[in-house]
Amino acid sequence: MNCPECKQPLTSYTEDCPNCGFSIINSPWIIISKVYSPDDMVIESLLKSFGLPVKVSRREVSQMPVNIGPLAEVEIAVPECLVEEARDLLEGAINTDI
Ligand SMILES: [Zn+2]
Repeated sequence: MNCPECKQPLTSYTEDCPNCGFSIINSPWIIISKVYSPDDMVIESLLKSFGLPVKVSRREVSQMPVNIGPLAEVEIAVPECLVEEARDLLEGAINTDI
C-alpha cells in the first residue's frame, strides 16, 4: 500500500512512513466488526497473515442470563486508513469458505 499522506509506497503497515513520518498505527482505530469467540481468533489471524495491524478488545457481556454461559463480545479494530482493505479481506475470506 501507499502512505495515506504522501503516497510513498510503504513496505510495512507497522512502521512510520520514511518520507513524511506518518504513522498508521498511531492514526485513529476504527471498529470494523463485532464478533463472538472464537470467530475473533479467525479474523485476527487472517488480518495478521496479511500484515495488517489489528486490535481486539474482548469484554464480557454481563447482562446475559447465566445459563448461556460466559459470552464475550469481541471488537475488531484496524487503523482508519486500512478499514477498506480489512473489510475486503474479511469479505473475501467469508466468500471462499462458503
Ligand atoms: Zn508518507
